[in-house]
Amino acid sequence: MSSYYLMAIAAHPDDTEFAIGGTVARLAGEGKDIIYVIATDGSKGSNDPKMTPSRLVEIRKKEQRAAAKVLGVKEVVFLRHEDQGLEDTPKFRKEIVRIVRQYQPEIVATSDPYARYVVQHRDHRIIGRVVLDAIFPGARDRLAYPDLLSEGFMPHKVKQALLWGASEPNYYSDITGTFDQKMKALRCHISQVGHMIDLESMMRQRNKKFAKDQLFEMAETFHRIDMPK
Ligand SMILES: [Zn+2]
Repeated sequence: MSSYYLMAIAAHPDDTEFAIGGTVARLAGEGKDIIYVIATDGSKGSNDPKMTPSRLVEIRKKEQRAAAKVLGVKEVVFLRHEDQGLEDTPKFRKEIVRIVRQYQPEIVATSDPYARYVVQHRDHRIIGRVVLDAIFPGARDRLAYPDLLSEGFMPHKVKQALLWGASEPNYYSDITGTFDQKMKALRCHISQVGHMIDLESMMRQRNKKFAKDQLFEMAETFHRIDMPK
């Protein structure tokens, strides 16, 4: 058992770099302990006719580890569910409860499951929902999972949820100083971004737009929820 400041729970390898890489780099730079949990194996993310799912899984694991290292993430946990296969089930929720109780994060970041009127990957929607239900009340309540308790996974109160990809953001994270590090981490995902020649300008534009009404230049945005005390 160990306790982390931030646990980012993503559907796919590369989600965290795209959405919150600058924030992760800033927090890690401040000495905060960060852990990634990657729910699926990313086995569907290729249009290369020569690529096989099993090869892709290994490639993407390596890419994700390299990206995490660039950002200063301490640990990466792969849950190895099939890409495009996440479902909101009691079993999956319990798996997330177990991992939250094991690593005891103060803050949990994940995809906003309630992003509206935008194209949203089904896995992103499912992971967001399952994570929110897992941290409250699943991870918190002593009597929720007696078997986990007897295995030593004690109840844990997460203080805050940070949802990325939010249609209605209420928290703007300053990434002006860590945008370059985010780009470096994002480029580790060669199988996903290797063909994108305009990646940097696209991301620069996006993160500048997110900071439009802020006092700083570049932002990542979240919907922040303070969990009950
Ligand atoms: Zn994704």
